[in-house]
Formats: sequence, structure tokens, C-alpha cells
Amino acid sequence: MDLPTHERWGDLSSKRVLVRVDFNTPVALVNGEITVTDDFRIRSTVPLFKDLLERGATVSACTHFGRPKGRVVAEYSVEPVRRRLEELCAGVELLENLRFNPGEESNDPAFGRSLVEGYDYFINEAFSASHREHASIMIPPTLVPSAAGPNLLREVHAISGLLDSPARPFVAIVGGAKVADKLGIVKVLSAKADTVIVGGGMAYTFESTQGRTIGQSLFDGSYLDECASLLAGGHVIIPDDSRGLALGAPFGPEGGPDDVIDFGANIPDGYEGFDIGSRTIGRFVAEIEGAATILWNGPMGVFEDPRFGVGTEAVARAVASSRAASVVGGGDSVAALQQFGLEDQVTFVSTGGGASLELVELGDLPGLRALRESRWN
Ligand code: AMP
Repeated sequence: MDLPTHERWGDLSSKRVLVRVDFNTPVALVNGEITVTDDFRIRSTVPLFKDLLERGATVSACTHFGRPKGRVVAEYSVEPVRRRLEELCAGVELLENLRFNPGEESNDPAFGRSLVEGYDYFINEAFSASHREHASIMIPPTLVPSAAGPNLLREVHAISGLLDSPARPFVAIVGGAKVADKLGIVKVLSAKADTVIVGGGMAYTFESTQGRTIGQSLFDGSYLDECASLLAGGHVIIPDDSRGLALGAPFGPEGGPDDVIDFGANIPDGYEGFDIGSRTIGRFVAEIEGAATILWNGPMGVFEDPRFGVGTEAVARAVASSRAASVVGGGDSVAALQQFGLEDQVTFVSTGGGASLELVELGDLPGLRALRESRWN
């Protein structure tokens, strides 16, 4: 995908540049002060800021932060982020939370105009917000010369490169809780990938179309026909067996290992499936080992409870040890990779969340379109 970049602007002395970032970082109270607890997003933008400052620009950044819903709420002030940014890269002004103004989320042109007032250039470095038609994403490219930031470009190229010309076999792995959230991506991937592995809570709706019983596992009856036709297409594979608990058995830290039950293909009434079983793990891992391209989004079970993280860990280890080009996206699969210390062993970790899913599903995002259609390109 062709997107305009900022290198073409050359010398920036006496120019003012506004950078839209996603610094919606986790914070916590530390020694009585609200403090950023994960500064990954801030750190990864510092090289861009330094480049702009070295080229003589005056640089401001703007971000959303939490959900203040169009009102000024002290708790959602960007102040803690501002402090961390100042420590990591002095000389960049961070504007107050975009979502303090209702015009941000309603994509109000007047609010968008007020943002770039006095600026010469705009850079969108917020891939993870680019699926939202919000003013700070959509309006600036219509008003000033605009560019895609380097991290946004990396995200877009990792995903679109993988979908446009994957080395084969291309194996996609889709998991997570809800079939409603992931069916679109399974559909698109089943047309592009050689195999789509489906696991996690969403798999039970697929299983039930095959006449299998799923007890009280997650299920959404409104997608039965679509799941059945995806399976009939021949590219989607689902678990053969699962592990879980009797209904009402303790979960999380209170639960003991002896409560875990290995089901075969069918889960009886009164029981719930929370992870893929060992036969399934063997089959999924063998598919992953044979892949030349891998896209993974969503866990294979309730991995937050270590008793049901076995399937997700096996998949994570197979993806990490594969020599295939591998892209892992979605908050939970990235969290799983981190939990097992494997995040450095895949080709690309997409931090885009909803934006990565939408880019896979629709092939484009509103914020990318706005950059491409900017009349200064
Ligand atoms: P998602 O946000 O849709 O990617 O789903 C991630 C969540 O799905 C995680 O928090 C998992 O705990 C949950 N999940 C995965 N498998 C199951 C399952 N079999 N039953 C219930 N929840 C699940």
C-alpha cells in the first residue's frame, strides 16, 4: 500500500509539525503519583520525534487517553504521559487528551481544523487508532501536507505484505472468546490462507455444527450456518478435543489442577471447555511447523488461568520456533507471547489490536485512506 512519508519534506527549520500518536498507555498509582507502567508506545515514537527535531521542526504530539467521553475529566489528563515523554525525549509538546472534546469522536471538522491551526505538517503515527473515523485521524490530511509515521508504516506493511504475497503454505491461527468478533477475519483468511486454525471459545460454535456436544461452553447460535459453510470450504480446521471444568468448579487461583477434565470430541451437559486438548495441540502444532507464513490472532483457551494456557503456550512456542514469516496481532496473543517470554522470536508483533483485525478483514482503514487521499501527495 502506497502511503506518503515525511522524508520528502526535507529541511523543517521554522516548520511546526503535529504528530498524532497513540499514547493510551497503562498507568498506576506509584508513590502517590499516577505513573506510566508500560512506556513501549512512547519509547517507540522517540526516533521519529528526534528526527523531526534534528531537522529543525517544532514538534507537538496529540493522543487520546482513556474514555473521558467528550468531557474534561482530571483522571484522564495526559499529564503522567507528558512526564514520561519529557524524560524520554525533551522538547516535544504533548497536547491535552483529544477525547476531552466531543468533536474528536464525532469527527467534527471544526475540531479537526482547530488541531492543525498554526501547523505546517501532520504525521499520523497512530496505527492502532486509524480504524476510527475520529477528527484527529480524518481531518488534518484534508488541511495540511500529511504523512504516515514510520511505526504506522511498519504495521501496515507487515500485515498487507503478508496478505498480498504470502510464502506458502500460509497458516492462519484465529482464537479468542467470541465467534461474532472473529468470523469476518476467518472468512477473509479462509480465502487467502491454505489453512485457518480456529481455537479458543469461538471454536465451540464451529464444533456444534458437526453434531458434537459442547456442554455449556461458549456458543453463539446466530452464526451456525456461516460456521458450517466455512468448514465445508475445506480450509478451516477446528479442535478434535478439549479440556475444561464442571460447571461451577473454582476458577483462577482458587482452582486446583485436579479439577481439570480432559474431554474427547464431545463435552457433556454440565461441563465447560476452556482449552484445546492434547490431540488438537499435536495437530495444530504440526500444521504450524509446516507453514512458511503464519498469522496468529487470539488465544486457544483461557490462558489467564495457567491450567488452561497449555494450548496457547504450545501454539506460541510453535510459532516462535518456526522459521516462517510470522505476524502476531491482537492484545491477547501478544500478552500470551509476552507471558511465555517469546515476543522477540516472531517476525512482527502488531500492537494494533482492532486496527490490525480490520486491516486484515477489509484491506484498508479510514485513517490510511485519509492519508492517501490528501491533496498534497
Ligand atoms: P478475544 O479478546 O476475543 O481475542 O478473546 C480473548 C479472551 O478469550 C481471553 O481473555 C480468553 O480468556 C478468552 N477465551 C479463550 N478461550 C475461551 C474459552 N474456551 N472459553 C471462554 N473464554 C475463552
